[in-house]
Amino acid sequence: MRLRNASEVPGDPAVVLAGVSYPMLAEAGVWYAYIGLPTWYTIGGYPLDVYAGGLVLVSGWLEVSDGGFAFESITLPPDSSDLLLDQARIDEERQRVNGIIAGFTPERYWSGAWITPTAGVVSDQFGTQRSINGGAYYPHTGLDIANDEGTPIYAAASGVVALAEELFLYGNAVILDHGAGVFSGYNHMTSLVVSAGSFAAQGDLIGYMGATGLVTGPHVHWEAVVQGVRVDPSLWTQGGVEP
Ligand SMILES: [Zn+2]
Repeated sequence: MRLRNASEVPGDPAVVLAGVSYPMLAEAGVWYAYIGLPTWYTIGGYPLDVYAGGLVLVSGWLEVSDGGFAFESITLPPDSSDLLLDQARIDEERQRVNGIIAGFTPERYWSGAWITPTAGVVSDQFGTQRSINGGAYYPHTGLDIANDEGTPIYAAASGVVALAEELFLYGNAVILDHGAGVFSGYNHMTSLVVSAGSFAAQGDLIGYMGATGLVTGPHVHWEAVVQGVRVDPSLWTQGGVEP
């Protein structure tokens, strides 16, 4: 969401979509906000209102169309799928990750198009509706790239390392905070080479591909997150998503 020629807007501007308010940032006379919509968002039209100083400054309209996500069934061996039985540890991990990706750093650290973080083949697309071992369907929250264990993994874009630790289902994981409510995540690594609080420039080595956590084999599960909502990371490599 971008509002041009708005340098003289009074008050703290925010854009409201379907009752949810997103703070807007400013760069060179452009007010902007990144809004992520989940894969299960209802198809249809939605009003967008920009508020500043408590008043509606401008209104727009957003059409949400079918993402065309495919359905698939996957089979995990018992030593991996058994992880899904430990609801307490799953909840603990979700709380830890959600706490980080709910953050909002007003400074934007990335510029230009993101890079694909590693070499390999795309083994599963973002948004695929997946059933594990015959269970219910849930959307795949990232993009999977598979290669040999030990393949280097690089920061897709510049950001602060918000998390670098072993998680339960995600395995050895790194989350980068790119600012403006945008994060990226790199999971299932065999080892990490960055620590929380450090800065990773685009292309910096952050770890090595592995098969830790809930996996069928070595790959990186790469996520992009916008204001707490997982979106397709490949979109960010197709051009600079910038104000
Ligand atoms: Zn994945």
